[in-house]
Amino acid sequence: MGVTLDISHAPASPRPPARPNLSGLTRSELAAAMVAADVVRPEKARMRASQLWRWIHHYGVTDFAAMTDVAKETRAALAEAFSLDRPEIVERQVSTDGTRKWLIRTAPGIEIETVYIPDVGRAGALCVSSQVGCTLNCTFCHTGTQALVRNLTAAEIVAQVQVARDDLGEWPSPKADRRLSNIVFMGMGEPLYNLDHVAGAIDIIADNEGIAISRRRITVSTSGVVPELKPLGERTQAMLAISLHATNDELREQLVPLNKKYPLAELMGGIRAFPGLSNAKRVTFEYVMLKGVNDSPAEAKALVQLLKGIPAKINLIPFNPWPGSPYECSDWGTIETFAAILNRGGYASPIRTPRGRDILAACGQLKSESAKVRASVRRKAAAT
Ligand code: SAH
Ligand code: SF4
Repeated sequence: MGVTLDISHAPASPRPPARPNLSGLTRSELAAAMVAADVVRPEKARMRASQLWRWIHHYGVTDFAAMTDVAKETRAALAEAFSLDRPEIVERQVSTDGTRKWLIRTAPGIEIETVYIPDVGRAGALCVSSQVGCTLNCTFCHTGTQALVRNLTAAEIVAQVQVARDDLGEWPSPKADRRLSNIVFMGMGEPLYNLDHVAGAIDIIADNEGIAISRRRITVSTSGVVPELKPLGERTQAMLAISLHATNDELREQLVPLNKKYPLAELMGGIRAFPGLSNAKRVTFEYVMLKGVNDSPAEAKALVQLLKGIPAKINLIPFNPWPGSPYECSDWGTIETFAAILNRGGYASPIRTPRGRDILAACGQLKSESAKVRASVRRKAAAT
């Protein structure tokens, strides 16, 4: 007689706990993690961390077995205790102009968009996200319509660079002829509301024995969180970009509601005091061109006045529409007239060619489907 075993009510076997991922840790975190897991003796930790660092951040390896100068038993112990896995790539899109966009899932419900734009900066720029969603609701920005889900960790920011490097085939870190030469924090979110993790990620990305993208080629863009400007400069030595978009408080309050908290006079004061500001280290002002809203010749002249004495360049960004957006992009002739006034006023003012519009990868078009869910629901989803 056959016996049927009813296992439908058997308790689910507990999932083994996820192995901690080492690929986004700082050197000292790496050392501490290996010691805590008893894989490495404390006196050897620094040396081992340096070895692993080269493999992870210079060679981009995702398998401990590839670390040929680490003893076999240690490699096995590392593989048992830790992982170097990349996050899941949910979607990869390539625009007709070569722009690439990845939707990366780093955890249940945490989906991030990252965009690579060829021929920007020295060779190509990666636009990274610092948050999922944004708290700031700028009225022209698609991300602003997505409520903040959470800040990204430093590891999640670094992972965006690693994913792009994988896709571009840029391991080991090339010394010359890189395709990914610049990083801009212009993706989803307000980086200065997540400065600890942004600064931690920059430390990793800029490290000379790893990804080695110089701090001079890393730009952090902010909508104007004035109290964080000085800490940003001191902690990261990165380049600063300010999303300005208007020359008077009344209009800026409508476009960038944060202006109510930090009005223009305060913002300009904070920028003038930015550490290291000089002709060699100019601030970039971003100005989105909105038809009939902020694009008149009078506003171009007011912009020249406002920036007087600040080493600056101005990026004019043709407005990128998104589903349901309430604005239109200024006409090309209007943008050119605006740029000519800025040029006469002494400011370089390149018009940013829209890139990746067809795949909603251009400035301000990023938005993932991630929504804030209660932590308990997230935990439950993670456990199934
Ligand atoms: N939160 C930061 C960085 C992300 S936004 C900030 O606001 O600076 C990156 C840039 O894209 C900003 O200059 C922003 O003003 C601009 N931007 C947002 N929406 C846009 C749109 N629809 N078209 C063009 N530029 C846009
Ligand atoms: Fe947030 Fe920047 Fe978009 Fe404003 S422009 S909503 S600060 S991401």
